[in-house]
Amino acid sequence: MGRAKLYNSDSTDLFKISRTGVQLFLNCPRCFYLKNKLGISQISGPPFSLNTAVNDLLVNEFDYYRKNKESHPLMIKNNIDAIPFDHAMLDQWRHNFTGVQYEDHKHNFLLYGAIDDVWIHNQTHELIIVDYKATSKDSEVSLDADWQIAYKNQIEFYQWLMRKNGFQVQNEGWFVYCNGRKNEDRFDATLKFDIKLLSHVGNDSWIEPTIVKIKDCLDQDDIPDSHADCQHCNYAKKNIELFTNQ
Ligand code: SF4
Repeated sequence: MGRAKLYNSDSTDLFKISRTGVQLFLNCPRCFYLKNKLGISQISGPPFSLNTAVNDLLVNEFDYYRKNKESHPLMIKNNIDAIPFDHAMLDQWRHNFTGVQYEDHKHNFLLYGAIDDVWIHNQTHELIIVDYKATSKDSEVSLDADWQIAYKNQIEFYQWLMRKNGFQVQNEGWFVYCNGRKNEDRFDATLKFDIKLLSHVGNDSWIEPTIVKIKDCLDQDDIPDSHADCQHCNYAKKNIELFTNQ
């Protein structure tokens, strides 16, 4: 895969910004600037292959119900009057490098994000954005941790993208949250999961002001400040101090 294009204020080409890019900006404008303007990225870890496997299995399972135009048993159990949505662009929407796209010609950005799933309400015909999550923890899964704001932003960003593509989208989205059981007596090459549906009522009002801030950030010449408590930046600073004092 080629290196991502860097931002150039003078370019008339749309600059691609993914959902994770927007989240990176929310987390730290400096990291976002370093990556998109100067080509300096944080070191990424190995891919989460087990999570991807769970994701793919859920896709297969929900596609079965999509093909049959039926509600999945989890939807019935949670009183969600909907079926998985079928659309000619679904594969593109679910593909990481294409996703659901919106061309923002005012700011010269192409904003995009790959959804896990989309359902359609049987009565209102509004679309319902769905995200699959996989974890393994002793406690019940929830959306209460501070860091899970990123999950909520994720659903809200997809809701916004779909609205920008002309669809009516319900504010309430759903997480299909799979929790791998660790306390089985035997493994037998089988991972068992408890699956819960968790609802999030989205509010996408933060997105357009954030896009304006992203544009301002990329157009400025000064590199934004780092967070005083960021362990990565503090590590880098201490390393530099150590080497310059040797
Ligand atoms: S403060 Fe942390 S998140 Fe921000 S630029 Fe430094 S490493 Fe990146």
